Amino acid sequence: MCLCPQLSDQMVELFDACQQKTSDLERKEACRARLQKDIQSIYAVARLYLTGSSMNGLGCRSSDADLCLVLKGNVSISDSVLLYVEMTQLIRAKVPILKFKEKDSDLEFDLNINNTVGIRNTFLLRSYAYADLRIRPMILVVKKWARHHQINDASKGTLSSYTLVLMVLHYLQTLKEPVLPSLQRDYPDCFYPFMDIDMVPEGPKRVPPYISRNQSPLGELLLGFLKYYATDFRWDKQVISVREAKALPKDNSVTWRNKYISVEEPFERNNVARAVHEKIKFDAIKAEFAQSWRILQDKKDLNSILPVGAII
Ligand code: ATP
Ligand code: MG
Repeated sequence: MCLCPQLSDQMVELFDACQQKTSDLERKEACRARLQKDIQSIYAVARLYLTGSSMNGLGCRSSDADLCLVLKGNVSISDSVLLYVEMTQLIRAKVPILKFKEKDSDLEFDLNINNTVGIRNTFLLRSYAYADLRIRPMILVVKKWARHHQINDASKGTLSSYTLVLMVLHYLQTLKEPVLPSLQRDYPDCFYPFMDIDMVPEGPKRVPPYISRNQSPLGELLLGFLKYYATDFRWDKQVISVREAKALPKDNSVTWRNKYISVEEPFERNNVARAVHEKIKFDAIKAEFAQSWRILQDKKDLNSILPVGAII
């Protein structure tokens, strides 16, 4: 067993330097409130929620702000938001996304309409993020590592940040001595999938910290994470389920058949890793896990897989 004190310290240092600051969140929140007020002058019942890493405790200073506009009835994007913001891009995906920037700043927004599962999973992830002090640094380092190795971009056929977060949580849930439980299993009332959306942000407030018998330092967890996906996880046979805190056997349904990577959305149970649909990208992802595990095991220095100086 390697306690890797230097590696653990480097991870905490990177987390301290890169994590979202209170002032970053306040700026996003001010923009959300202003926009909500504008939209409510037309749609009085409209609500605008900040989601994603800005809200779930897993954000960096450079993270964009994800927004979900909750509107009742049939409203098209052109009927509503376009009147109020300067659009930079409209992504016509399964869940259309409107991209825009705050005027005269570098603050970027990604807005969807009525994709309320994003609100539910944001507050589920937030509960995991704060369940143990090691979770937030661990996930931030993994996101930075994946971004550096160019395997963190769903629009280019690799892993979304959301997929990466679920992969880390799964690893921590399935250790012999788990670092995390299934919060949906242990606190079903806090994460009831059909809870009124206004009540969802209350859920995490009722979840106490998890006291794990596993007190492995961060460096050991990072090495274990890389090793798990480099050598243990069966990509062709297993589905990652954070909802059940285990790997489920892949069945032959359309959701999982012929998918390179299978990661279950904790509420909707579809595959959040469906962007990885080319073998070449899948191979590149696996190769990064294998190579980084080998290097880090040898060097025990975060800089060997992620040039910390360049990132901070
Ligand atoms: P980053 O800091 O890189 O912006 P992020 O945590 O905001 O990371 P994204 O992958 O940008 O992660 O996703 C933003 C949010 O959108 C997620 O937190 C989640 O709430 C929601 N989301 C993303 N992908 C899916 C999906 N496939 N199904 C349901 N919700 C999703
Ligand atoms: Mg985001």
